[in-house]
Amino acid sequence: MLTRDPLTQADPDVAAAIADERRRQLHGIELIASENYTSAAVLEAVGSVLTNKYAEGLPGKRYYGGCEYVDVVERIAIDRGKELFGADHVNVQPHSGANANLAAYFSVMNPGDKILGLSLTEGGHLTHGKDVNFSGRFFEAHFYGVDHETGLIDYDNVLKIAKEVRPKGIISGASAYSRTIDFKRFREIADEVGAYLFADIAHIAGLVATGLHPTSIGQAHITMTTTHKTLRGPRGGMIMCAEEFGAGIDKTVFPGMQGGPLMHVIAGKAVALGEAQQPDFKTYGEHVIANAQAMAAALAERGFPIVSGGTDNHLFLVDVGAIGISGRKAERVLDKIGISANRNTIPGDTRPPTQASGLRIGTPAITTRGFGETECIAVADMIARVLHAPEDEATLKRVSRDVLDLTAGFPVPGIDESF
Ligand SMILES: *Cc1c(COP(=O)(O)O)cnc(C)c1O
Repeated sequence: MLTRDPLTQADPDVAAAIADERRRQLHGIELIASENYTSAAVLEAVGSVLTNKYAEGLPGKRYYGGCEYVDVVERIAIDRGKELFGADHVNVQPHSGANANLAAYFSVMNPGDKILGLSLTEGGHLTHGKDVNFSGRFFEAHFYGVDHETGLIDYDNVLKIAKEVRPKGIISGASAYSRTIDFKRFREIADEVGAYLFADIAHIAGLVATGLHPTSIGQAHITMTTTHKTLRGPRGGMIMCAEEFGAGIDKTVFPGMQGGPLMHVIAGKAVALGEAQQPDFKTYGEHVIANAQAMAAALAERGFPIVSGGTDNHLFLVDVGAIGISGRKAERVLDKIGISANRNTIPGDTRPPTQASGLRIGTPAITTRGFGETECIAVADMIARVLHAPEDEATLKRVSRDVLDLTAGFPVPGIDESF
């Protein structure tokens, strides 16, 4: 593992900022639904000498010499990915979830083709066709939403839009959707209009891997994911598909989109996928969901409507607009007391996305550090106290102290207590 001393000596400014961030992660409460804490083993792999190595190509078929050891690492990552998700073909090279998505699209579609994805303001992701993203610039993007009453995807409506649009690709998966996604139904819709089905499981991958969310493998033609959200690995992407799409995926990732793979990150992915194969990772996933449900219920009891009434997964959306504040305001007030969460539009939001009426809350990170339902209810109480009195400095001060008291009892993997 990298020792901290060489960095402190060589570059005290960067070292100090990293130390500050380490402290923030240790003492704050992390509720950003897309974040997590990797294990110390993953951190060590990502901070390893593998960052020095060029390895364009695939294991056994590289464009550079000296790849015998990185080949071992990438083969382990691929094999574990296949086994964990039950996928026939896996590519572990995408640098990020966004890269994985673009590579997946371009492996079977061409510029100008039509795509149909969940709208960003109703829970989708930028890479599902938003105009400012390459997905919206290269493809003719169309969108489905969620029912504004129930907060749920209305599959009949998705089918109706698909029949009108006739897209080449339908994108399922979301960044802010708290309910089970019916990939089987999506496949039926795709089949009915002759479209490819993409499943972007970036958020729920850890739950899918452990059977806590129905899998997209075998339903979607191509499944894309990040490795750093509920999967608890290093920051990166991964693509899974049936054998018939494998060669197209591999060549679209490289040389189509990327140059040299990040072998140090692929080593971290291998380690994380191995961790996810252990029985305790399923227990972790069960706790993630139980914690999200407990916190959502506790917030509802304290006057905050929850979009769709609750959650089946690791996250939920709180309608803070209902108590007269914007999501942005809520995000800022919580930041002041050491709680990180992010503003999010809610279905049918009347505020612009920069303000938003919702707050997205996720439990993957706090569950990793050992919070249980009791702690989650305590966190809900802290959130309710400050959001009901955002200008009351005495309350903010008291709750910041409660945050420190609570986090002091729960170590973060990979961060030792001396910081
Ligand atoms: C987070 C996310 C991504 C993008 O992942 P990055 O690694 O940030 O590029 C893609 N799709 C969905 C649904 C996501 O939530």
